[in-house]
Amino acid sequence: MALSKPSTSKIKDNSHTFNEEWEPKYFFTKSKARKPVCLICSATVAVAKKYNLERHFKQNHAKFEKEYPVGSALRTDFIKKKKKELFSQQNIFVKQHDELEAMVKTSYEISLLLAKKKKPFSNAYIIKQSFSAELQRSKG
Ligand SMILES: [Zn+2]
Repeated sequence: MALSKPSTSKIKDNSHTFNEEWEPKYFFTKSKARKPVCLICSATVAVAKKYNLERHFKQNHAKFEKEYPVGSALRTDFIKKKKKELFSQQNIFVKQHDELEAMVKTSYEISLLLAKKKKPFSNAYIIKQSFSAELQRSKG
């Protein structure tokens, strides 16, 4: 009896990587999540395929092809400006995420402290202690 192997339909396809040429062509750049992101409307395309980006650009931003001609300084500047905007937004998001993480960590430590000391959660002194510990850590 022959054992039938499950067919490996998912083959690694290296063609789905972002091609730098698409940036001046279709106003797409690579986001930090490695997904192509539209510089005009910030939409992301799930699969980095030329066809997908081309279709998005032609369907949604056809006028940009005329208003920002290929190879013009206008187009280069627009892309540069939009990229800067996009990446500063992403940095803000990362920063907020870090702060949130620190907050979660602090509140976890408070509950841990309270649990250790077997004190009710309303014990203001212990909460203060934990916050100053957090403060010391962030200073040091
Ligand atoms: Zn778009």
